[in-house]
Amino acid sequence: MQWQIPFEKQLFNPLQLLPTVCVVCLRQCESDFNLCAACVSQLPTLANICSRCGLPLTTELAPFEKERRCAACIGLQFSVASCRGLYHYSSPVDALLGAFKFGGRLDVGYGLSRLLARAIGEHYGTGSKPDLLIPVPIHTRRYLQRGFNQAWELAKVAGKLNGIEVSNRLVIKTRHTEAQSNLASATERKNNLRRAFEINPRFPVRDVTHVTIIDDVVTTMTTVTAIAKLLQRHGISRVEVWCVARASRVFGP
Ligand SMILES: [Zn+2]
Ligand SMILES: [Zn+2]
Repeated sequence: MQWQIPFEKQLFNPLQLLPTVCVVCLRQCESDFNLCAACVSQLPTLANICSRCGLPLTTELAPFEKERRCAACIGLQFSVASCRGLYHYSSPVDALLGAFKFGGRLDVGYGLSRLLARAIGEHYGTGSKPDLLIPVPIHTRRYLQRGFNQAWELAKVAGKLNGIEVSNRLVIKTRHTEAQSNLASATERKNNLRRAFEINPRFPVRDVTHVTIIDDVVTTMTTVTAIAKLLQRHGISRVEVWCVARASRVFGP
């Protein structure tokens, strides 16, 4: 007779027998998410940011100004209602994200996703949460190279811990494109993403009016804006963005 063992019991994870260790300082970690409180407190938190693009405000606003917008965003309408990041894309956040994304360190990614989940929970509080979290999709070719989509790993944890539905099937990337960071100008970056994303015709978008896009790093907002426009063409009126790190690197024109 052949024994049938439930699938989950076949998986043996020796790490579960060991105490959680901080991925930065390698000391035993009091939290269960791979980053100790001391190391988290050293991360370059973003503060005093523009309520639209999420970049730090360089000048103090007058107290009567309702909206905290930077000079580039003031008075303009955008497809993305707001973009918020937890940290500056600088040391050691760039190294943590690099280890996660390019080194396959899912333990590091899990630590970052817990921090993102906590910030999202605090932000939405008991108010109106998004109907859906969606990761920035990657093309199948890149998925096969990397083995995972880092934005989906982040979104899954953020959604689960905040009771928000998550889907990586609503928006799909149908065209393999050059990495946006390799392109110098805004026009090149826009053209690179032309018809790169599509709404999955098999995904019902009924009752979805508010979506939050999740990504690991946001730099120029070209990618998230392309996805936001696509969602709005399909009747989703409010699109927000949350990311682990907001890079302020300024590309060409
Ligand atoms: Zn630590
Ligand atoms: Zn701004």
